[in-house]
Amino acid sequence: MKVGVLGAGQLGRMLALAGYPLGMRFRFLDPASEAPASHLAEQVVGEYEDEAALDRFVEGLDVVTYEFENVPVETVRRLGSRGCSVYPPPEALEVAQDRLVEKRFLRELGIATPEFASISTYDELKAAVSRIGLPAVLKTGRMGYDGKGQRVLREPGDVTEAWESLGGRALILESFVSFERELSVLAVRGRGGESVCYPLVQNEHRTGILRRSVCPAPMVTPELQSEAEDLARRVLDRLGYVGVLAIELFEVEGKLLANEMAPRVHNSGHWTLEGAETSQFENHLRSVVGLPLGSTAPRGYSVMLNLIGKVPDSASVLAVPGAHLHLYGKAERPGRKLGHITLSADDPQMLPSRVALVEELL
Ligand code: AMP
Repeated sequence: MKVGVLGAGQLGRMLALAGYPLGMRFRFLDPASEAPASHLAEQVVGEYEDEAALDRFVEGLDVVTYEFENVPVETVRRLGSRGCSVYPPPEALEVAQDRLVEKRFLRELGIATPEFASISTYDELKAAVSRIGLPAVLKTGRMGYDGKGQRVLREPGDVTEAWESLGGRALILESFVSFERELSVLAVRGRGGESVCYPLVQNEHRTGILRRSVCPAPMVTPELQSEAEDLARRVLDRLGYVGVLAIELFEVEGKLLANEMAPRVHNSGHWTLEGAETSQFENHLRSVVGLPLGSTAPRGYSVMLNLIGKVPDSASVLAVPGAHLHLYGKAERPGRKLGHITLSADDPQMLPSRVALVEELL
């Protein structure tokens, strides 16, 4: 089975690592040479719109998937019209690439989201601020990730400044949610329509970037878990989805509000490599090639810490009991995700001291 992956970043690299034991082979397409997945498999270096690069990429592939949600939808459709099976479906990309389309889609499915308004002019922004109130968050509709293209508006004076820095393109204004915590649900749907969900994960972000995930999230009632699974399944079924889907959530007074979704394996699912019966990467591959899905049951308790901008000394990390180190082969640069560490234990009481030891190294 030869799997093509659009995007050759760390997610692609971890997909390949999960696919090799199942006898799969991989080819990647990415405009950046020396991308993290290229160290493990063939990479076609080319733009996603480049016909000649796409020709070289699809030659002999059994199935195509993607690890990057800003792959042009047109590319995925074009591959599909050549008779290539591409999963997840292009509709999932279309929804996830535009925050406004995404929020409307979630609302249509009866899934709660923060209040929002579509903004294309300064007057629309002022009107939306009076309707939604402050604080609020102004975001670019497209191409935002890791908190990029966002401004928090706290007082009326922030409105003009936010417009000056982000105006001129399609924007969305959202109410600022004073959440108790951020959670995410990862769900997988197979080619036959069957689906499984991982336990809710608790996430901590700093400057818009995920720093830490605790898995399973503490103090999750069965009702909250089933609320998350139910909303994820509504999205999966509506899209006829195949693969792993992540939905980022805010918990407010015991209820969930959906922030955004990612039609791919997700950073908040990295703990599943050691912490679940079947990792998100293996389950994504199982679903796109049509194999039975694996159990999502957790193995003990895990904390995942992202390595941002700088890589600590490997020997010191690995001296911490229960520590697993994953490096993506990327050069150090401020704000860049270079790797992650998963700390696992059978007893959750063991984790805080291990986390403290690793945090000293970061
Ligand atoms: P996003 O790119 O939408 O995932 O936003 C990055 C991070 O910014 C989120 O994980 C939250 O921590 C924060 N954030 C985004 N939208 C809101 C909101 N409407 N209210 C409060 N915090 C938000």
